[in-house]
Amino acid sequence: MTYRQPILDTSPKVSDEIRKTTCYMCACRCGINVHMKNGRVAYIEGNRDHPINKGVLCAKGSSGIMQVTAPSRLRHPMKRVGPRGSGEFQEISWDEALELAVSWLKPLRETNPEKMAFFTGRDQSQSLTGFWAQAYGTQNYAAHGGFCSVNMAAGGIYTIGGAFWEFGTPDWDRTKLFVLFGVAEDHDSNPIKMGIGKLKTRGGRVIGVNPIRSGYNAVADDWYGVTPGADGLLILALVHELFKAGKIDLEYLARFTNAPCLVKADAGPENGLLLRDADDKLLVIDKRSGKPVPFDTPGVRPDLGATHQGCRTVFQVMAEKYLDEKYAPEAVAERVGISAERIKGFAAELAHVAFDEAIELDQPWTDFRGDKHDKMIGRPVSFHAMRGISAHSNGFQTARALHMLQVLLGAVECPGGWRMKPPYPKPVEGHPKPHCGVTPGKPLNGPHLGYPLGPEHLALKEDGSPARIDKAFSWENPLSAHGMMHMVISNAHAGDPYKIDTLFLYMANMAWNSSMNTRAVIEMLTDKGEDGEYVIPRIIYSDAYSSEMVAYADLILPDTTYLERHDCISLLDRPIGEADAAADAIRWPVVEPDRNVRGFQSVLIDLGARLGLPGFVNEDGGAKYKDYADYIVSHERRPGVGPLMGFRGNGEGVGRGAPNPDQIKRYIENGAFFLAHMPEDGSYFKPWNKSYQDWAVKIGLFDAPSPYLFSLYSEPMRRFQLAAEGHGDRQPPDHLRDRLKQAMEPLPCWYTPFGDEDAEDYPIHALTQRPMAMYHSWGSQNAWLRQIHGQNPLYLPTGIWEKHGFAEGDWARVSSPHGEIVVPVAHMAGLNPNTVWTWNAIGKRKGAWALEENAPEATKGFLLNHLIHELLPAKGDGLRWSNSDPVTGQAAWFDLRVKIEKAPARHHTEPNLPPIKSPVPEAPKHRRQGEKA
Ligand code: SF4
Repeated sequence: MTYRQPILDTSPKVSDEIRKTTCYMCACRCGINVHMKNGRVAYIEGNRDHPINKGVLCAKGSSGIMQVTAPSRLRHPMKRVGPRGSGEFQEISWDEALELAVSWLKPLRETNPEKMAFFTGRDQSQSLTGFWAQAYGTQNYAAHGGFCSVNMAAGGIYTIGGAFWEFGTPDWDRTKLFVLFGVAEDHDSNPIKMGIGKLKTRGGRVIGVNPIRSGYNAVADDWYGVTPGADGLLILALVHELFKAGKIDLEYLARFTNAPCLVKADAGPENGLLLRDADDKLLVIDKRSGKPVPFDTPGVRPDLGATHQGCRTVFQVMAEKYLDEKYAPEAVAERVGISAERIKGFAAELAHVAFDEAIELDQPWTDFRGDKHDKMIGRPVSFHAMRGISAHSNGFQTARALHMLQVLLGAVECPGGWRMKPPYPKPVEGHPKPHCGVTPGKPLNGPHLGYPLGPEHLALKEDGSPARIDKAFSWENPLSAHGMMHMVISNAHAGDPYKIDTLFLYMANMAWNSSMNTRAVIEMLTDKGEDGEYVIPRIIYSDAYSSEMVAYADLILPDTTYLERHDCISLLDRPIGEADAAADAIRWPVVEPDRNVRGFQSVLIDLGARLGLPGFVNEDGGAKYKDYADYIVSHERRPGVGPLMGFRGNGEGVGRGAPNPDQIKRYIENGAFFLAHMPEDGSYFKPWNKSYQDWAVKIGLFDAPSPYLFSLYSEPMRRFQLAAEGHGDRQPPDHLRDRLKQAMEPLPCWYTPFGDEDAEDYPIHALTQRPMAMYHSWGSQNAWLRQIHGQNPLYLPTGIWEKHGFAEGDWARVSSPHGEIVVPVAHMAGLNPNTVWTWNAIGKRKGAWALEENAPEATKGFLLNHLIHELLPAKGDGLRWSNSDPVTGQAAWFDLRVKIEKAPARHHTEPNLPPIKSPVPEAPKHRRQGEKA
């Protein structure tokens, strides 16, 4: 008998239409093809033509289909009818919701705008939200960078005028050695995976520096399991070795950095600043004449070893500092957790690849001085870093140290090195300064956030107290370029520096994983004063999903998912650039929402019009923009420069040009992105490359060429030190002087992280890692991603595991100076011997995210946040400072110290907070793919 094979259609038609847009399951912003069938999302694949991912798609990206159908999606605008935290809401119309918001916001604007604080989470529309907050007139606005990775951004901007993250990239086609420090793998996904693949195919090497050998560290050729908070010391030991061996790119330093600038030695208010001429230009000594000349003099040959009237060069000060034996590998090995031999080997490998394997491109170019170069010399060592090194109280200086290491090797902006993506490079002087000038009924006197160059740019009130509710840009955290969102609720609750009336939050889960000291924050959100009113009287919240924060808000403005709205990934904000091209992108509604929700950006524009905010209304008082799509196309930040650079004017304009009503249509036809390549002779050495600078002006990145020198020595930081030493009109309070003198050291330094004060009683470091498969906590409600990470044990290194006699299935009590948790444990060998860790934000509160109450996220998942206080212990002066980097205010999550002991196994992790009532129903038990809840 013959067996008849069934007839199978091995290539079924998966869709009847493909819509190209931009992924938002993480910050990489890959291009995606959304396959539609019968009006529903059937399948998502990578867009092969897209510059970011070239068709590659990760687990998060393909799971976007479950995001758009997630049971946890909010359905209607709602107002709270029960007590805060009860989860009791009444559905209301959009008109009612917006008028309620206006009835709260309008009187505040007319009387005291600072009583309204507007903070946003990981959204990608800060150029709009900041513009709106400025028009409203409050100084209390920021996004979430203060509790994320502002140290990386600020450390980079103050040193090289650019930063890691999505703002730069290794030269993957040419680099031979790639070094990763503490990367958050959810943030740096497809581009790095593709890059590592390219590098390894060519026989290049990857070095991972991370206490935890997970993710990219697991595929690294060499792994340095550094002790948390000691990365900066390791980097300075590498710098010591490079100085000692003379393996430094002196030519690069002399031409492109402030290493040949002269440090004033006279005692007095200018001590330690750099010598300048009458036009305020930095001076260097020209080797040809031995005389001081402006740094940009054509043909100048800056002398790194010169002295002038008692001034030494920055380079000499650096050599003296970093050759000190306290940075010798032998001196730091124990603290860093890596042997002296391995540190020396690491330094030797960097030097070998940078100098012995240097590359040359036959590409002539002209620098900003007008000097012509026949070739481009490349140092094929590239670096990348993220949250691991930055979430410490010494993270800013560590980020600076890492950039200094790159620069000493001559490995920034060269072939084979690390390169910036437009709109970077951009000197720190080219950024806005923070503003806090409030006038009732009027806009703020300038942008909220920026990069202070000295005490004159701090956001202080007349009496010297912090002007902002989060105390950003105050003496406590002078360079807090992204604000300090993690301090808003506790400061507002304490009335320090003042009370507020309305807290307006977007996409920030402050009642759970986005706050330190979670339980106390929940209490602050529900606490009432003697008058029976909530201490924070009104909370407006916008989110697409029923997160833990929803129950604590008074008014809910439900957002759409990323496949249901317009978005703009703009050069005014955080574009999708490439190292040799400017690029931006859009999202557009590939499906219409099936619920009564609206894109938050359109809601904000509507609110702006209802409030009559300048920039959001026409002269006749009518709404200026119909919605966010209209704003994206019509808004001009400067004449001819708007949110999108492509297809401007008659459709041919790039960067500059009148608004084009067809712009979004043209983007959609082009795959939802636009790419403008820079000239070939302009794509390396961009901060100093005349061809690049001219091109950047042409496409509107800036209005005049802005070449600059890398700041190995930071004058802005020295200005704060001078203030701490008693110079200048604006003076810090006495109790902060010593701390400022230490933290604002103008050359990169290392100091013990503040958490080490607890080391005697709490000897173990405790960290979280962001999983590659789940960006922030957005995947918690995603049926596919939950199968990858549904729970999160605490991983213990072999020594601790064996010392306590742990076995698989055991539980542990983990205590910090602030609290304790009881959690399941697991063994991991590839781990720093004094560090424990878990995945970030997998643990969920019962009742949230439309998960079952016994969901693994709520019973076996947990947060370390319960162990971390937002304030440091009292210092003896009666004051408690925020648990943050003293320079930038970056939340010092990773300074956490704990102790650990065995605990009986149980059915749920502790603390086990009571369930909250969710305004959306629990998910159905069974669902077919693409089926909506
Ligand atoms: S790397 Fe990020 S942006 Fe790219 S497909 Fe994955 S989730 Fe989407």
